[in-house]
Amino acid sequence: MNVSLLDLKPQYAQYKDKVIPEIMEVIENQAFILGFKVEKMEKELAEYTGAKYALGVSSGTDALLIALMSLGIGHGDEVITTPYTFFATAGSIHRVGARPVFVDIDPDTYNIDPSKIEKAISKRTKAIMPVHLYGQCCDLDAIMSIAKKHDLKVIEDACQSIGAKYGDRQAGTFGDIGGFSFFPSKNLGCFGDGGLLTTNDQTLYKRMKALRVHGAERQYHHIEVGLNGRLDALQAAVVSVKLPFLKGWTEGRRRNADRYDHFFQGNSKVKTPVRSGNCRHIFNQYVISLDRRDELKEHLTEKHIGCAIYYPLPLHLQECFSYLGHREGDFPASEAAAKRTLAIPIYAELPAGALEHVAQTINAFIC
Ligand SMILES: *Cc1c(COP(=O)(O)O)cnc(C)c1O
Repeated sequence: MNVSLLDLKPQYAQYKDKVIPEIMEVIENQAFILGFKVEKMEKELAEYTGAKYALGVSSGTDALLIALMSLGIGHGDEVITTPYTFFATAGSIHRVGARPVFVDIDPDTYNIDPSKIEKAISKRTKAIMPVHLYGQCCDLDAIMSIAKKHDLKVIEDACQSIGAKYGDRQAGTFGDIGGFSFFPSKNLGCFGDGGLLTTNDQTLYKRMKALRVHGAERQYHHIEVGLNGRLDALQAAVVSVKLPFLKGWTEGRRRNADRYDHFFQGNSKVKTPVRSGNCRHIFNQYVISLDRRDELKEHLTEKHIGCAIYYPLPLHLQECFSYLGHREGDFPASEAAAKRTLAIPIYAELPAGALEHVAQTINAFIC
C-alpha cells in the first residue's frame, strides 16, 4: 500500500465544482492583483479568525516581514524567537536587519519555552515572535504577560495554525500582529504562494496595507519604502472557496490524530504529540518522537509510506546564522527534537485503513 504524507487531490475533488467558475471569473475579468476578490477574502478571514483586520499578502514569509517593518523593527533591534521552526521565522527577522535571539523549546509541545524568555531580553529587544508549531498554540498567557511587563511587541507566527485555539480565541489574535501562510501544504492552502496578516490595531493595519504596495498610501505616493507583498485575485478566490471546508478538514485531522494516539498507546517507544490543556490543536502535522528516528524514516520510505522531518537542523546551527556565534548544545531541547521527530500522514481524507497500516508498520518496526 502506498501512502503519501499529503495528498491534496481528494480535497480538491470536494470543491472543484466551486473553484473553477471563480477562477474563470478572474480570468474573464483580467484583473489579477489585489482588488475585489482579495477584499472579499480578507473580510471572510477577519470574521473567521476573530481579528478586526485581515490583509492578504504574497506569502507567509512576506506577512512576517511586513509585520516586523510595520512595527519599525530593524537595525540594532533584537527579536526573540525559537530555533525550532521553519526558516522564514528567523529569516524575516534577519531580513529587516534585526538580530534573531533564540530561546529553546518546551520538549513536549516543541513550542518556545516561556520560562526561558526573560533571560533572553536585553535593552535591544523589541519583540517576541512565538511560533505555533505543527498547529498548536504556544503558552500565550505566559508570553503575553512577559511582553506586557517588558513593553515588547508580539508577532505570532501562525503560519501552521489557522483555526487553532488558545482558550476560546484563535491563533494570530493575541499579539499585535498574526502572520499566516496559504502555502498549499498548510491547512488552508491556495494554488501557489499566499499569506495573511491579522491585527486589531487600525494604525498597524494601515501601515501594513501601505507596506504591501511599496509603502504607498495613495498610488505613486510613497510614505516609506515597502515591498511588493501583494496577493493575487486567483489565490484569494481559491482561499474563499476553501474556507467553508476548513472546519470539516480540521475535524478530520483531529480525528486522525486521535486514531494514531490510540494505535500508539501501547508503544512506549513512540512519543505521540502532547496536547496542551488550554489549546485546540489543528494538526498541520502529526509528529512522533523516538530514538531510532532515522532508521524508521528509511523503513517507511522503503514501504512507500510518506514521512518527513520538520526540522532536521535547528536554526541556530544554520550556516547563514553562524554570525550569531551559537554552538551545538546551546539549545538542547531543539537539538533533541531535530534528531528525534518524524511527521507522518495526517490529512483529513487519509482512509482509516491507510492510517492503520501506517501505525501498524511503525509499531512492528519500533517495539
Ligand atoms: C510555512 C511557514 C512560514 C512561511 O510561509 P510561506 O507562505 O511558505 O512563505 C513561516 N513560518 C512557519 C512556521 C511556516 O510553517
